[in-house]
Amino acid sequence: MAFGSLSDRLTETFRSLRSKGRLSPSDIDKTVREIRRALLDSDVALEVVKSFTQAVRERALGDDVNKALNPAQQVVSIVMEELEAILGGTGRGLTFSKTPPTVIMLAGLQGAGKTTLAGKLAKYLKAEGHTPVLVACDLQRPGAVDQLQIVGGQVEVPVFAPEPGSGVGDPVKVAKDSLRFATDKLHDVVIVDTAGRTGVDEDMMAQARAIRDAVTPDEVLFVLDAMIGQDAVHTARAFGDGVDFTGVVLTKLDGDQKGGAALSVKGITDRDILFASTGEKLDDFEVFHPDRMAKRILDLGDVMTLIEQAQKAFDEESRAEMEQKFLSDTFTLDDFLDQLQQVKKMGSLQSMIGMLPGARGMKEQLDNVDDKDIARTEAIIRSMTPTERVNPKLLNASRRKRIALGSGVSVTDVNQLMARFEQAQKMMKTVAKGGVPQIPGMGPV
Ligand code: GDP
Repeated sequence: MAFGSLSDRLTETFRSLRSKGRLSPSDIDKTVREIRRALLDSDVALEVVKSFTQAVRERALGDDVNKALNPAQQVVSIVMEELEAILGGTGRGLTFSKTPPTVIMLAGLQGAGKTTLAGKLAKYLKAEGHTPVLVACDLQRPGAVDQLQIVGGQVEVPVFAPEPGSGVGDPVKVAKDSLRFATDKLHDVVIVDTAGRTGVDEDMMAQARAIRDAVTPDEVLFVLDAMIGQDAVHTARAFGDGVDFTGVVLTKLDGDQKGGAALSVKGITDRDILFASTGEKLDDFEVFHPDRMAKRILDLGDVMTLIEQAQKAFDEESRAEMEQKFLSDTFTLDDFLDQLQQVKKMGSLQSMIGMLPGARGMKEQLDNVDDKDIARTEAIIRSMTPTERVNPKLLNASRRKRIALGSGVSVTDVNQLMARFEQAQKMMKTVAKGGVPQIPGMGPV
């Protein structure tokens, strides 16, 4: 994720504290210096770094430490709380209008991920029981309207756009007209996608202001690409002055460049981060929780988000059915395939595993897990006959050879899959019985 190297640096710093029984003021100074360097190297804005390190230092030196913790744990706990604070403290959700439709306007540079986000937001709101409509007000970028139509089609949310062939179109008029459309068609949320430029310019700001004034949004969300490094501060300030915004959405948090923008934006603009976008797929989207993100950065795991994503992907019914299968030992390779497909729905495997505590310590294994693995597994299972899928014990050497040939893999791959299947069977059975599975090298989750 975007905080990969920062995570590594901070956990390394804490590791070196572990052996100490007591921390002297000079140990604390050294630690704070390392934290400071790690943050600056991740492109966190200088003023944010300064206030952060000052707070950590004062608290670590002061009496405000939890005596039940050992010195290293005390520092980790202070850093976690301060990280949570710079990410927005308790955070907040979307503000809805008392008189629908609620208007959410998206603003940001071209390529920040606004159009993609519009689709993700529509999908999220729909799942929450809303009836959103997407509005195409990016009439500048060629293809932007089509892109929104495609995204709208994927999430099955209508798109309000100028008639094709009606000329260039006036985004302010489109935005205004969309409100009438929403009221007529009973859409309770209007999501307005606006034009961005590759750099900040006054025309673009003026257009965004005009749209804002025409539809008086309940939320103006500034969409910020977390990968743009130090430019993030300048861009956030420019949008703050230019259109003013009520909240922030961070995109591309899945990238592995430095994600300092995420850590600076609240401090610089005093606006909360509401959502995070973590990939190109429409499911790669999360409500932003400062406390959970702080834990993830410190490699303390974000089990809550993982559980929520799993719950989203596995509906109640299929979960109960699976549990029954595990308990009665009738879990077959077809079910295994089914499960893999459910996992695919949860987003990329890497980002999921990255949310487990201690996951960064498993970096090497993580790098070896890729979504292609799933495709290969699917191919292998599909090359088996229905009888073999139900009764894997039939898979003798010659059948395995045939399956390997059929799916274009080696016999070793088939053998590995069968070993994993057996392991999954065992692990799931433990879970279904209410036990805690062991993940190799990590202890109970
Ligand atoms: P817009 O110009 O602001 O509307 O940006 P788009 O929504 O067209 O996104 C620009 C590019 O970034 C597209 O290729 C998207 O697929 C990609 N993108 C958007 N959000 C994410 C994200 O969270 N992670 C990654 N890796 N790519 C993203």
